[in-house]
Parts: sequence; structure tokens; C-alpha cells
Amino acid sequence: MKYEVSVERSAELLRLALPMMSKQAAALHPVSYAVWYEYVAQTNPALRTAVDQALAQHGKLDEAGTHALFRQHVADIDPDTGQRVADGFQRVLSSMAESAAQAGDQTARFGSSLSRLSTELGSSDNTLVGEVLGHTRDMQASMAHLQKRLDASLNEINTLRSEVRRARHDALVDSLTGLANRRAFQEQLAACLAEHAADTRREAPCLVAGDIDHFKLINDRYGHGFGDQVLCAVGQILKSVVAEPGLAARVGGEEFILLLPAAPLADAEQLAERVRATVAASRVRRKGGEVVGERLTISLGVTHYVAGEAVNDFVERADRALYESKNAGRNRVTVIGHHGAH
Ligand code: GH3
Ligand code: MG
Ligand code: MG
Repeated sequence: MKYEVSVERSAELLRLALPMMSKQAAALHPVSYAVWYEYVAQTNPALRTAVDQALAQHGKLDEAGTHALFRQHVADIDPDTGQRVADGFQRVLSSMAESAAQAGDQTARFGSSLSRLSTELGSSDNTLVGEVLGHTRDMQASMAHLQKRLDASLNEINTLRSEVRRARHDALVDSLTGLANRRAFQEQLAACLAEHAADTRREAPCLVAGDIDHFKLINDRYGHGFGDQVLCAVGQILKSVVAEPGLAARVGGEEFILLLPAAPLADAEQLAERVRATVAASRVRRKGGEVVGERLTISLGVTHYVAGEAVNDFVERADRALYESKNAGRNRVTVIGHHGAH
């Protein structure tokens, strides 16, 4: 969904959304604004139905409900939604601030010619001029006040904007390793398959699924904190082998997946082998500096997308390849090519 709205239209949406937002139990923040913006814009029927249902059931939207609606109906639809909503909001306020500044300048100019006029008339007790001069000063003061309030709102919007950006980031990034999370992976995989469907002459995408070997033992032996450290180290290795537009994601506890949008199977296999060898050669230090005795290894499975197949079939085949690596003794790479052939 794209937000291509004029300043006038966004001002109108803002005017409609604010009173609805303020009736809820949730605080006024960009997430709730995004929900209510979508609601009043009437561009998202599923969201409207969900909001109406929630209101019928609970009377008001609370924090959790608002965030859930945002996640389900706003954030999922378009990754840049929050950003665009905040941008639109800011455009409205900027243009208002600009008009206020212009009006303030004009009032100031008017005021100063009035005082010159009153001096030239030579009588400071010219009541009419004095009265107009007084009103002009009042007007100038209220313009300055308005300007200040608009500036404050603009600052607030800028803060909200970075909060939206952060919320969006948090929704798509695994906080432990900084890799993409499962949701980001799913979004990008869907986008990548859609692109591929539009131009099947392009090289098909590949998946490399990885799962750390005997990770439970590492946790049991050295503690969960150290386990987390290992996850980060493996995450770093994965990040270092995948360049844009490829994606490295942590999709489960010690499960990772690489999406290579247009890679020959042989390249994906090579990359998986590089990951395997790098992990096997790495030594992870504990906080105290001592190197952990056990070798760290990872098992991997590689596969190529088969034109027309369902997303799940593609992902499941990568998993199947990974589990073949596990069954064959771990610390290895298994490739399943087209038609399930090895
Ligand atoms: P396999 O070689 O068959 O994969 O064995 P495994 O021990 O790696 O696999 P299993 O699925 O039995 O255990 C995975 C372990 O990962 C269990 C769980 O405690 C641990 N784990 C999951 N998430 C996290 C996490 O975020 N941090 C840490 N430290 N451990 C985690
Ligand atoms: Mg596992
Ligand atoms: Mg494992």
C-alpha cells in the first residue's frame, strides 16, 4: 500500500484520526497513529474490520491490542508504512509552521509600518492608530506563540519518526545477533519469489539452512550466556559471507538460514562449505579469556528454488537437506538439487 496523499488530505486524515486515537486506552504514539490513520483513510478493510471488532468487544483499544493490530495489519502490509505515515504527518506540520512563520513576518512588517505611521502623524495618542497597533502586537504575540507550538510539535514528530523507525527495526531484527529474524526472512523470501515469478529467466534463489551441532551440550556445559556468545559469533560469520541482496537470518534458537536471491546451486554450496569450514575452525573464548575446548560445528543444507513450487516446499527441502547432514554425522553440507536429486 502506498501513501501518496496531498498535504490537505493528510491534514484531514490527521484531524479525523486524532479524536479517535485519544478515546483509546493506548497512549498517543506512532504505532497507534498508524493504526488510526489507516482506519480513517479506509484503505485497509481488514484493519477496519479488526478495529471495529476489537472496539465492539472491549470498548477501547489498549496498548497490547493496538500493537497487535499494527503488527498484523499495518507493519505486515508495507515495511515503510510507519515511515510514510510519520512523513505525511510531518509534512502537514511543516507546512503549517511555514505559514505561521510567514504570517508572523507579515504581521511584524505591518506593525512596524503602523508605528512609523503613528510617529509621522506626530501623535502617539492617536487612538485609532494606537488601538490597531495594540491589536497588531497581540497578533504578533499569538503568531509567535503558534510558531513555538508548531516547532515543538515538529520536534515531537521527529522523535516519533525515529521511534517508528526503531519499532520497525525491532520487528525485523533478531536482538541477540543483529541478523534478520524469522519474520524478516519470510517477508524477503516472499518478495524474492514474487520477483522471480515475474522474470523466470533470472537465476532462481537458493536457501542455505544451518543448525549448530550439539548446541544443547554447549549450553549445559558452559551456561546459557556463553551459548548466546556462540550464537553471536556464528551470526557474525554468516553476516560476513552474505552480501546484499542476500539475507542472513536467525530463524530459531540455534537455527539460521541464508537467502541467496539469484545464485547458481554450486555457488550456494560453496558458500555453505565456507560457513561450515569457518565455524569449524573458529575458537570461541569465554568472557575470562579462556578458549573453550570443544570444537564448534554447524550442519548445513542447500537447495535451489523449483519454478512454481510453494514457499513451504522450498523451505522444507532446505531443512531436509540440513537433517541429512545431521544424520550423516554433522559438520557437513548436503545439497538437494532439482527434483530432489543429490
Ligand atoms: P543437534 O546437533 O541435533 O542440532 O543438537 P542440538 O543440541 O544443537 O539441538 P537441540 O534442538 O536438541 O537443542 C537446541 C538447544 O538450543 C536447546 C536450547 O536450550 C538452545 N537454545 C535455543 N535458543 C537459545 C538461545 O537463544 N540462547 C541459548 N544460549 N541457547 C538457546
Ligand atoms: Mg535445532
Ligand atoms: Mg542444533
